[in-house]
Amino acid sequence: MSAFPQQLIDGYRTFASQRLPTEQSRYRELSVRGQSPEVMVIGCCDSRVSPEVIFDAGPGELFVVRNVANLVPVYAPDGGAHGVSAALEYAVNALQVKHVVVLGHAQCGGIRAFIDKIEPLSPGDFIGRWMSMFVKPGERVEQRDHESMAEFTVRIEKAAIFRSLENLTTFPFVQTRVGRGELSLHGAYFGVAEGSLFVLEQQTKQFRSVGQMSQAGG
Ligand SMILES: [Zn+2]
Repeated sequence: MSAFPQQLIDGYRTFASQRLPTEQSRYRELSVRGQSPEVMVIGCCDSRVSPEVIFDAGPGELFVVRNVANLVPVYAPDGGAHGVSAALEYAVNALQVKHVVVLGHAQCGGIRAFIDKIEPLSPGDFIGRWMSMFVKPGERVEQRDHESMAEFTVRIEKAAIFRSLENLTTFPFVQTRVGRGELSLHGAYFGVAEGSLFVLEQQTKQFRSVGQMSQAGG
């Protein structure tokens, strides 16, 4: 077996000497009191899209589940092992988070593989099967006339966020808490190259840019 990656050892030592001293009391408090994050983020595995980094979150602040293309399956109590559903159940029922954020992003490899139908993406492969949940039976996902490949890709990346939000509402415990006004669902999209964040406006179904500068005053 090869050695544990030196990059991670070095990274831990930097964390332990720089960040940990400022957060040690917070870690101790969290270990006694337990976690009580108010926000769950469902993001992509992509190494460029770390929710804790993008939202500048400290320990205990975000409950995060990441998977290929930030997808949420439909509610399926079929006896199968459902990792995202289990995390969602824990976040909503046990932690009683107030917000669930689906965080999509630009240049998503999962979406790209889905669009290109590249190998290995047969229905029998893991990514192929995983991405197939994105499409409803009978639904066709195709590039539109006069739509560039780049535009098509962004449209599908955003469609994955809409689909995940739609699928979230198939979970009875999500429906219940949303209905009581105790939980809200949100979509966001991260532009990797510029580090830009777009938040889904519920009424218009449009993604609006969040300015990078702090709000003045207040
Ligand atoms: Zn991705």
